[in-house]
Amino acid sequence: MTDQPGAARRLDGAAVAAAIREELKPAVAAFASKAGRPPGLALVLVGDDPASAIYVRSKETSAADSGIAVRAHRLPSTTPLADVLALVERLNADGSVDGILVQDPLPAAMGTGASTRVFDAIAPGKDVDGFHPENAGRLAQGRVTLAPCTPAGVIELLRRSDIRMRGAEAVVIGRSDIVGKPMAMLLLSEDATVTICHSRTADLAAHARRADILVAAVGRPAFVIPDMVKPGATVIDVGINRVTERARIEEWFGSGSARLAGFDQRGSAVVGDVHPAVAQVAGALTPVPGGVGPLTIAMLLRNTLRAAELRRQRGSNS
Ligand code: NDP
Repeated sequence: MTDQPGAARRLDGAAVAAAIREELKPAVAAFASKAGRPPGLALVLVGDDPASAIYVRSKETSAADSGIAVRAHRLPSTTPLADVLALVERLNADGSVDGILVQDPLPAAMGTGASTRVFDAIAPGKDVDGFHPENAGRLAQGRVTLAPCTPAGVIELLRRSDIRMRGAEAVVIGRSDIVGKPMAMLLLSEDATVTICHSRTADLAAHARRADILVAAVGRPAFVIPDMVKPGATVIDVGINRVTERARIEEWFGSGSARLAGFDQRGSAVVGDVHPAVAQVAGALTPVPGGVGPLTIAMLLRNTLRAAELRRQRGSNS
């Protein structure tokens, strides 16, 4: 969260993401001159979820700014699953497309399991989200090529902030396939000792308090309170939660805070999974917004370049 009253060092994900994107520009240009074409990224957005539309727009702009040839395919919410799968097949076969990202969630009307079917249909070599079972398996075996963007961004932030992962106690709250599990795998491959907590964990606070590195990927605003944090720990707040109750924002940030003023202008505020008072206990903390979110996009661009380079090395279309 942005109003951090305490002493914790602020881990500026937005600045790190901007640096990564600048580093990528010459690498993208070098690929384009070798390959005779820029790396290609296809974004697929089905339906009219406002948050998804913003994410796709932001990915589109960032990719174009880095020199990646990006094309967004926007489909109506009534699109049958078969048509989305057919589009993915066309993109799999298109030699100018190196990366395919289908924005989650798909419309509920597509039925349960639709996302899994679509993600499984993406050619693993073009799976820049890193969600395909082959890429999840490679990650679990320490042979990662395309890692999921959000956890990969967290690792990059920790590295560039000189936060030691080797031998550290790391606790990840959340076990989703897109954040919690791959986060744990990446921390393990950095030689941290990793615990994963979830909704059925007994005495979660006791686990969390052991952490030198605590990652919150829960999806519940202000879930991590100071009592769950070891003094001096690094706390990574992955959560993005839109809150529409004014009283909650006032309670968490205070009556004279910039966050409350922002809420009063917009009628909502985006807050993380970590309570702002954690800044008084933690040694380092990511803000929300401006922490992990921008890194996710930077990692998507890096994965797209990586997928392009790997496909060129293999000389393959998929
Ligand atoms: P999911 O809803 O898929 O997973 C949430 C996890 O939190 C689950 O494993 C769940 O446990 C656990 N959980 C929920 N409630 C509790 C509880 N009371 N105690 C302990 N554990 C609990 O969410 P995601 O992993 O997709 O996302 C997590 C957050 O990160 C969200 O706020 C999301 O918006 C944000 N996000 C941010 C991104 C970024 O770019 N910064 C990218 C992706 C996500 P169980 O498995 O037992 O149900």
